[in-house]
This record gives sequence, C-alpha cells and structure tokens, in this order.
Amino acid sequence: MLRARSSCMPNRCAAAMEPPVIHPLFLHDFETFDAERKRVANLEDVKAFQAKWFSKGGWPEWQKPDEWAEISAYARRNRDLAEAATERDCAPKMVSYALEPEARYQYSKTLAVIDEVLFPQMHDEPRKLGSSLWHLSCDYCLISTWSEGSIYCPICGRALVYSWLGD
Ligand SMILES: [Zn+2]
Repeated sequence: MLRARSSCMPNRCAAAMEPPVIHPLFLHDFETFDAERKRVANLEDVKAFQAKWFSKGGWPEWQKPDEWAEISAYARRNRDLAEAATERDCAPKMVSYALEPEARYQYSKTLAVIDEVLFPQMHDEPRKLGSSLWHLSCDYCLISTWSEGSIYCPICGRALVYSWLGD
C-alpha cells in the first residue's frame, strides 16, 4: 500500500533524490485518488477527475542540463539492468515532468486508464508486442519494452503499463 511521506512539503520534495522532485497532490491522498480512478467511466468523469487531481497545464519539467543528464542516466542504467535480468529488448524512457518516481508511474497508469475509457475500440484488438506499436512501460524505472514476457517490471515489480506509440 502506498503511503505519502509525511515529511514532504505539498509541492516540492527533496527527500528522495537530487534534483528536487515534485510530490503531487494525488500522492498525498492516494487511496481517494485510486478509488476515484477506478470509477472513471466516461468523458465527463475524465474531465472532472483530471481537473481535481492533475495540475492544470502539467507540472514543472526537468530544467537544467545536469537534471536531464541524471534522469537519463537513471533510465539507461535501468534499461541495462532490465535487459540483463530478462533478456528482453528494452529502451530507456524519458518523462519530462519532474515528478517523483511513484508519481510518474501513477500518472502514466492513469493515462492508460483514461485511454481505455475514451478509446475502448483500440482495446478490442489483441495487443501484440513486437510486431506493433504497443509497448509496455514502467515510468517508475523509466524503461519500456516491446518484447513478450512478464507483465511485471523486472526491476521494481510494478505492473507494466501498455502504451500505444502510434497516431
Ligand atoms: Zn519498474
């Protein structure tokens, strides 16, 4: 179960890594956020949910070259670890918002949930990795794979999230 770290300030948290990363509202009340996410069923729900939980216009992004260098080095290191652990092809994945890792993961998972609500026809087709534009990603570890295999991230154990790279 996820618990918000009480030592964090509402918007910025420097506890886990340098550079400072953003600890968004939805991690502070994750149980409510997760319960409401499960109830999103149509476009009106999506709009209300996003307005309540997500920062309008997104969050601040990695700014300085050394911040980008650090986060991309983290992604490449995890790509190497994942490939060594699974023999699957992986790629580092960059996320520009300066969110803490759990927030990155929950944000991308939420976008996938919203996609399933708004574009259900895409999900009638089998999601075939390797021969299509479907990828499985872990935005906590910043890796993505297009090889068949476990649906769990080989590094952190979270469920990988489907993302469609087409269109
Ligand atoms: Zn992971």
